[in-house]
Amino acid sequence: NTQPVRSTAEYQAMDAAHHIHAFLDQKALNEEGARVITRGQGLYLWDSEGKKYLDGMSGLWCTNVGYGRPELIEAATRQLQQLSYYNMFFHTTHPAVVELSERLFSLLPGSYSHVIYTNSGSEANEVLIRTVRRFWDVMGQPDKKIFIGRHNGYHGSTVGSASLGGMAFMHEMGNLPIPGVEHIAEPYWYAHGGKLSPAEFGLKCAQELEAKILQLGADKVAAFVAEPFQGAGGMIFPPESYWPEIQRICKKYDVLLCADEVIGGFGRTGEWFAHQHFDFQPDTLSIAKGLTSGYIPMGGLVLSRRMAEALVAKGGVFAHGLTYSGHPVAAAVALANLDVLQGEGMVEAVKQDTGPYLQACLRQIFAEHPLVGDIQGTGMVAALQLCEDKASRQLFANEDDIGWRCRTHGFDEGLIIRSTHGRMIMAPALAITRSEIDELLDKTRRAVDRTA
Ligand code: PLP
Repeated sequence: NTQPVRSTAEYQAMDAAHHIHAFLDQKALNEEGARVITRGQGLYLWDSEGKKYLDGMSGLWCTNVGYGRPELIEAATRQLQQLSYYNMFFHTTHPAVVELSERLFSLLPGSYSHVIYTNSGSEANEVLIRTVRRFWDVMGQPDKKIFIGRHNGYHGSTVGSASLGGMAFMHEMGNLPIPGVEHIAEPYWYAHGGKLSPAEFGLKCAQELEAKILQLGADKVAAFVAEPFQGAGGMIFPPESYWPEIQRICKKYDVLLCADEVIGGFGRTGEWFAHQHFDFQPDTLSIAKGLTSGYIPMGGLVLSRRMAEALVAKGGVFAHGLTYSGHPVAAAVALANLDVLQGEGMVEAVKQDTGPYLQACLRQIFAEHPLVGDIQGTGMVAALQLCEDKASRQLFANEDDIGWRCRTHGFDEGLIIRSTHGRMIMAPALAITRSEIDELLDKTRRAVDRTA
């Protein structure tokens, strides 16, 4: 029953006839035909031609426990039999979601207390906009409405979340950003740092936040929203000086610090949440992806106790709700996913064993590679910056093409990695073993060599 029932060509033709794919030139894709993925197990995927791939991206940075774990499948089946749907509307709740929330908050310090569940990361950030604005209303500061995000940040594809994000090419499509959203620079030292040291550049970028708050007026600024490390924007790790300065500025002006943990959450860096790796304390956490390891859609917005207490004590009715918020099957799968992550010590392994191994081997293999100008990452996430000239940090003028070529060589080698602006990104499942890391790096090296 794992065999495709139609030929690859038939699937491709039907796909082209009915789908608008994400972030791709549809016409070019239709000529080429989409790769039809039919099966996944552990770290591996198979396509409809039987070709096997090591998935170096854990889907879209989400299958943290790997594919096909029976515990998650059984949890979904059991929950479907017990209660296939109910909601958290109009005076009801259900055991699956309550159990999940208790577990979620056991992973976080007591300064967080409440969550609003969604179906995706984009929705988590949509919910963020209304919740933060509602919070400031309740606090008697209704003028605090403006969000500050970052150029090249990614927070989702819906109107509000794409506005918080700073992808100019997304803004061009759909007349974004919405009013009340501003952006500051991204802390991408390799491309924009010039002659500054990473530490100086990190401070400079963070201080843009202060300048922006002063320009807009602190009484108008609701929140700063950012990914602890930028994912879709190219896996940009900020210099160490960055986050402490951002935290200081947010505290000084009473601007909420909103961390988008959609990629960084649930163990990716070797900590449960990426803000813990960078050692700052956000007021909200947007979560999705690794919450269910992508087995079923689920996201959420985690609130600090301060925010939740204000909303509960003084907020009255919050006119907000989603039919599938806290869906019982998603909640049961999320809980089983956390059982696996915790029971098998996967996050600890990423911190102490497989993560350091991956990072050390990457640096050993690529430090002297003529095409690789920079290597960033921690735990189970890493990026290789492809460059024209190492000494001067000269990027390729056609970096998108170069990255795409490298990614295509990866496919030929039976490897899935991602390219973003000439940065080759890997974020395999946390379940990866050392020998699978060896295979990942071996295939990556061959793909990069073929690109040179
Ligand atoms: N936030 C971040 C940091 C993301 O990387 C993504 C997706 O990649 C999202 C939000 C949007 O999540 P979703 O695709 O589940 O809507």
